Amino acid sequence: MPTLVPAPAATRQAAVLIVDDAPAHLGALRSMMLEQGYQTFVANTGERALEIARRALPDLILLDIVLPGMDGMEVCRRLKADPVTSNIPVIFMSARTGTDDIVAGFDIGAADYIAKPLRLAEVCARVRVQLQFRRTALSQQQQNERLRLIVNSMDEGLMMIEASGRIQYANPACNRYLGYAQGELAGRSIRDLLAPPLAQEYLEFFSQAEAGPGAPVWRGAREVLIRQRDGILRAMDLTLTPMGTEQPTFIALLHDITHHKQSENALQRAALLDPLTKIANRRHFDSFLEKEWQRAIRSSQPLSLIVLDVDHFKGYNDSLGHAAGDACLQQVAMALQSHALRATDLAARYGGEEFVLLFGETGHDAACTIGEAIRAHIESLNILNPRSTTSPWVTASLGISTIVPTQLDDIKEFFVSADRAMYAVKEAGRNGMRAVQTGATLELIQAALQS
Ligand code: GH3
Ligand code: MG
Ligand code: MG
Repeated sequence: MPTLVPAPAATRQAAVLIVDDAPAHLGALRSMMLEQGYQTFVANTGERALEIARRALPDLILLDIVLPGMDGMEVCRRLKADPVTSNIPVIFMSARTGTDDIVAGFDIGAADYIAKPLRLAEVCARVRVQLQFRRTALSQQQQNERLRLIVNSMDEGLMMIEASGRIQYANPACNRYLGYAQGELAGRSIRDLLAPPLAQEYLEFFSQAEAGPGAPVWRGAREVLIRQRDGILRAMDLTLTPMGTEQPTFIALLHDITHHKQSENALQRAALLDPLTKIANRRHFDSFLEKEWQRAIRSSQPLSLIVLDVDHFKGYNDSLGHAAGDACLQQVAMALQSHALRATDLAARYGGEEFVLLFGETGHDAACTIGEAIRAHIESLNILNPRSTTSPWVTASLGISTIVPTQLDDIKEFFVSADRAMYAVKEAGRNGMRAVQTGATLELIQAALQS
């Protein structure tokens, strides 16, 4: 809860409480204070003084030490012990001017000590000085309060980090982001939050900055992964600003970018999908093929590719309309997808009514089995194609190529071999499949067998 700080005295008339049991003193001091433009309260006993102080919260108390009943020292002690009145400056007025008395007065919290008999001009000057102090203190307190409110309510995480990497302070947003309780982050090192290479990079930068002026200054935001209290890594923008203090200290601002990340990921996923059929698009397939190709080279495992083209599709479109054509492509895509279920399989729409499927760690025989299953699956969808001269239903022609790739092989040639096999099926009457084996290893084996 923010504490309420009264407006500085500058914006209103300063109020002075005068405490003295001698009516003559009280009268003289009061008229002088009024002359200065101050609002005044008066009390002739300690008890009354405490009561007024609590109720009226004056900006200053002029306090006589010798009073009937509770003396001024005790009044001051109580004022200082009460949080409501502890900040009100007290000026003692006393005929006791021994060093011990004066020291005792300051010890219990007096702001000043004036000797009696009073010289009114001196009282006036001392009161003015104390009120000035108080105004400065209050406006500083207000400023601190304002800063505290900003830092506590801001949505960005804020940390103060020492050159050693020790976290000096973390604001509530920072704790909230990272799942720490209040005060739990302070005292920890940024090594607890950043991965080792990154933490090291920051620590090196800190120690360079410690080397003094002329050292490189590093500002600006960068995206980092920060470890939450539960160990989960979270992407955030970290902005580091050196503070111009004697001990090098850095302000780190943490900006949550989870939402950006999520939409970025969604965009990335969308960029890999074919909008019509929602299976992988050509771009995704090409990079997947490249990765599987390299993996197959390393593991000497076979890789099988199926190129599939829907038969007489132009006729399908022409007779039933483009929308029906789209729906047909979606059905075909779903059927293909159901045959590519392993992490090393991928079905994609390559363009128009042409699809491709890649099967990692899959040899010739297995590929033929899958190819025939796919061909039969499409025909069994029983999608009528009135213009087909091959079958009453929508059918497809499949070319299959299998390779155990080596550094000597070319990925394009692999693709062309499957494409060529598919066209051979078209020429042979469609609704069928043709499988070939290719690659440098195979050629070597064949050559060896022939000789
Ligand atoms: P073939 O048996 O030799 O493959 O003959 P085909 O008619 O299937 O081949 P062709 O390449 O002549 O025609 C392909 C047709 O596919 C032409 C085009 O209108 C249609 N097509 C391509 N993309 C889409 C699409 O996204 N939606 C629809 N509805 N039709 C498409
Ligand atoms: Mg076609
Ligand atoms: Mg085609």
